[in-house]
Formats: sequence, C-alpha cells, structure tokens
Amino acid sequence: MQTEVVLVAMIFIAGISPKTKVLDQNPRRCPVCGLHQAYFKRVDHYLSLFFIPLLRVKKGDPFIMCDRCEKAIPEFGSDFSQRTGYGNKTCPYCETSLDQDFKYCPYCGRQID
Ligand SMILES: [Zn+2]
Ligand SMILES: [Zn+2]
Repeated sequence: MQTEVVLVAMIFIAGISPKTKVLDQNPRRCPVCGLHQAYFKRVDHYLSLFFIPLLRVKKGDPFIMCDRCEKAIPEFGSDFSQRTGYGNKTCPYCETSLDQDFKYCPYCGRQID
C-alpha cells in the first residue's frame, strides 16, 4: 500500500522533459532566408523531479534552427546526404551536400548561385 502511494507520487513529480539548448553564441546565416538569425540548437531529454531537470537521459542531435523562418535544419551527419530532399545541391566552395532550397551554405556561409 505504502509503495503504491510512493509510485503514484513519483509519476506526478518525476518525468522526462525536453530541454532546448542553444549551442551557438553567435547567430549564423540561415541557409533558407539568408539572415543571420539561425543558431545551432540541440534538444536534450532530462529526467526531472519537481520540474527541475536533474539528469540528462538522452542527448539530442544538433540542428540549425532559424528564429525568423523557424525552419529546423538537421546537423550534417554521416547520413545527411541520404535525407530526403538533401544532396541535390552541392556547395561549390566546401562541397557539402545541401538542401535544394538553400541559398546559403550553412557551413562556409557563402552564397550559392
Ligand atoms: Zn531563416
Ligand atoms: Zn560551403
């Protein structure tokens, strides 16, 4: 009986909650709209108790999120070129595979014609 009460209480006070972490201090150029309002971010999942994050249980993948157009661009991992819509365009300067919508390369920051 006592254990059950504790368990029910634990469900209410403890939980896994996502927490967005901004990895960049300086904004970088958004590859889509071209404004310097994109930041590298990562969503980590924390085990929280009383709404206070205590322990990181899952480390998220970094992505670029533009504050203006709110388009999230996944970080370029090894599977980057396999993503749908990606890899149709290549940056002529650093040869990174890019989304065909990109007007700017998020890696080297140059404009793509
Ligand atoms: Zn943008
Ligand atoms: Zn580039």
